Amino acid sequence: MRALRLTDNGPVLDTDYPTPHPESGEALIRVDLAGICATDLQLLAGYKGGYRGVVGHEFVGTVVAAPNHADWIGQRVAGELNIGCGECHLCRRGLDKHCRQRQSLGIIRRDGAFADFLTLPIANLHPLPHHLPDEHAVFVEPLAAALQLLEQCHVHQGQRVYVLGDGRLGLLVAQVLARTGCHLTALGRTPAKLGILAMRNIPTARTDDQEQMTQLLAHPADLVVEVTGSPDGFDLARRLVRPGGVLALKSTFANPLPAFDISSLVVDEITLVGSRCGPFAPAIRLLAEGAVVVDPLIHARFGLDNGIAALDYAARRGVLKVLIEP
Ligand SMILES: [Zn+2]
Ligand SMILES: [Zn+2]
Repeated sequence: MRALRLTDNGPVLDTDYPTPHPESGEALIRVDLAGICATDLQLLAGYKGGYRGVVGHEFVGTVVAAPNHADWIGQRVAGELNIGCGECHLCRRGLDKHCRQRQSLGIIRRDGAFADFLTLPIANLHPLPHHLPDEHAVFVEPLAAALQLLEQCHVHQGQRVYVLGDGRLGLLVAQVLARTGCHLTALGRTPAKLGILAMRNIPTARTDDQEQMTQLLAHPADLVVEVTGSPDGFDLARRLVRPGGVLALKSTFANPLPAFDISSLVVDEITLVGSRCGPFAPAIRLLAEGAVVVDPLIHARFGLDNGIAALDYAARRGVLKVLIEP
């Protein structure tokens, strides 16, 4: 099969990569559509200590084989990417996504979705409603990651919330938080991206607009979500939280952040929340209801044969979601 692999010499399109074999309890899935996210681009830059294997973890596919689970064959699915060992104290508490021995699709010791086929445990799969098109279903995984904030932070009506970052994930986070009725402002620096939110009646502000920033810094928020994907974002996000407030972090970086005054978190009694993968079921429901718009986020679509070009394109400044269609 074809597979986009990360090697010591960067990404390579392999046209003769062995098709994976599903073990008992697993499914072989034909990848119908996959999405490139910031994590993939960070992996290319060395994040996670140099993952080597097939990249990609956001996908929609169709089950083509499933030993002992024939009823799944032909089912269109999205799939959760973490596979815990099932035995350690974390897995036993349902924290398998944090299992220290885990595999993560296309990220840790498990071939990913930029290929003709992948395998995942049946337990990781979520059937998709027929009327949810592939172009929307491919956003289930990142939307679930956005929804994770609601699992971790009690966001309520009238609370002042800033989302810092207008990239792929930031635009999903802002839409999810807007639904809570909180007093939300989405901050970014690209008018076209902020415009997607403004169309949804979500207030926006430009981080390069001095006047707007002075205003916002004078009214720090109860909750700030940092989702810029840029090391500079952390400092600004910190300054936008009120004392006693919550700073939720969504960005992951290949390189460590520059030195930071941790004492300021102590003195201002800031709660830090790290936030990663989230629940698939509500993400599927929101997409099926059309409650979160994703069409304007799709900037390009490439065949798998042009997967390298797709990665290059996705890394360009200002480009949102790039899809790979095997
Ligand atoms: Zn992702
Ligand atoms: Zn485990």
